[in-house]
Amino acid sequence: MTHTRTPTIVVAGAGLTGLSAAISAREAGARVVLLEKGGREDVGGNAAFSGGLFLFRYDGPDDLTSITEDFEPGMEADRIEAPPYTRHAYAAELSAMSGGRAEPRLVDALAERSLDTVRWLAAKGVRFTFNRTLGAEVRDGVLHIPPGQVLTCVGEGMSRGFEVIRPLLAHAERIGVEIHWSTPLAEVRRGNGRVTGAAVGDGSRTVPVDAVVIATGGFQASGELRREHLGPEWETARLRGTRLATGDGIQAALRAGAEKAGTWSSCHSAAVDPTMPSPGRSADSPPFPLHGFWLGVLVNRDGERFVDEGPGPWVRNYSKMGKAIMGQPGCEAFEIFDQRTAPRVADEFAGAAVPIVAHTVVELAERIGVPADRLAHTLKTFNNACPPGDTISEDRGTSGITPPKSRWAAPLDRPPYVAYHAVAGLTFTFGGIRIDPDGRALGANGAPAPGLYAAGEAIGGLFHGDYPGGAALMRAAVFGRAAGHTAATEATSAPRPA
Ligand SMILES: Cc1cc2nc3c(=O)[nH]c(=O)nc-3n(C[C@H](O)[C@H](O)[C@H](O)COP(=O)(O)OP(=O)(O)OC[C@H]3O[C@@H](n4cnc5c(N)ncnc54)[C@H](O)[C@@H]3O)c2cc1C
Repeated sequence: MTHTRTPTIVVAGAGLTGLSAAISAREAGARVVLLEKGGREDVGGNAAFSGGLFLFRYDGPDDLTSITEDFEPGMEADRIEAPPYTRHAYAAELSAMSGGRAEPRLVDALAERSLDTVRWLAAKGVRFTFNRTLGAEVRDGVLHIPPGQVLTCVGEGMSRGFEVIRPLLAHAERIGVEIHWSTPLAEVRRGNGRVTGAAVGDGSRTVPVDAVVIATGGFQASGELRREHLGPEWETARLRGTRLATGDGIQAALRAGAEKAGTWSSCHSAAVDPTMPSPGRSADSPPFPLHGFWLGVLVNRDGERFVDEGPGPWVRNYSKMGKAIMGQPGCEAFEIFDQRTAPRVADEFAGAAVPIVAHTVVELAERIGVPADRLAHTLKTFNNACPPGDTISEDRGTSGITPPKSRWAAPLDRPPYVAYHAVAGLTFTFGGIRIDPDGRALGANGAPAPGLYAAGEAIGGLFHGDYPGGAALMRAAVFGRAAGHTAATEATSAPRPA
């Protein structure tokens, strides 16, 4: 016999995924208890450090104007070029960037629901504006925006993503989500084949529940899990975001019968300046990302190039640069520019990264500590492989060298040279819990683990080797919202435990 009743849903983690899940479960009629391991000042998890960029589908301008009405204030362009990014284009890009390994049902769900979920966030008070910085630029009075990467939340600077969290937290509190700070989920309890409780703190206290949504992020903040899954060189890697995503929610779900999914040995990792430590708190600045690699070249400690610096627009490829650097001797590299390109990164890097300036290649080699003959050979070979002419553009790649620089290839021959020291900054891990598109955690044989749901960085199966910028916040909101709704509606009609 089934009953209609008010179920209790525990959502673990107050990042974007957890807040989305908590709000949608509450709006579906459940009592919602949101557990957060950190204090109130830690709300937001990685989103609090993020650039606030959302990758979503749209067919034309009408889709965009329905999300926000205040595009214009502060605009310095007369016109906006934002080519359509259809559901099909989104799914095809995500699938291609994963090397065909992304779970097709999750890919389709993310692409399909992205636009509606951005509208849902806007309706909860999140304010969006045109992306003017992340791969976007004004040319001849026109703001050119990469496909799909059209909107960021409002706010300035590196951590504008907190502006997504602030209205969602206020909304969650307004509609009666019960939030418990400094209360980690320790274990998911089961009885009669379904979830019955959430053990919190040291695990000695169990809250009776109808369902648990795991929204505790990845495992990137655990040195032990990094060593085990990513490799020993990652054990001491710098983090770009929350120190609290140590994988405990993922592990609790696996112990409760969920299966693993995705590439556990891979992660999202950018090139960052090494002078800043991993953030200790959400109020700290994360290590500065050196997204200028596409304009210059990257060389390792031996003075050799090791990666294609221009495989595509940087906002679609930066997530693999940290991994490429991690594979180099000493796990370090240098981004090198000349006077053709250095001024283009100088403003963005000013005050955050330390430029090393030299008038000759030999002096540069001495100052950055690489063999002068190797560096001179590398730059000469690179310069000779660049197309003739003076412009830097997307259609200009090198020829005859390995690795190539596929776009924006221009010789470095205008001293003084400017170098920036770069290391890997770990953003989030790619492996996690297997789910279906509605957020149900799947166990052995692909069957749902009754009462257990998961979303966001805690899941695997969507991102593999590479990732398009903006897809992670979108994933958090799309699947967080879905998991909360499914948990609440299924628990409402689930048989009451005897
Ligand atoms: C510097 C930086 C920039 C980024 N920029 C972008 C961007 O512009 N666009 C984009 O799409 N993505 C971006 N991302 C990625 C994006 O922010 C994340 O993928 C997304 O916010 C993940 O949300 P989440 O809620 O799933 O996980 P998290 O944000 O990791 O949240 C997990 C929460 O769970 C809590 N928690 C952990 N363990 C427990 C436990 N046992 N019990 C209870 N709570 C627990 C944590 O404290 C945390 O609050 C960026 C990330 C970083 C670090």
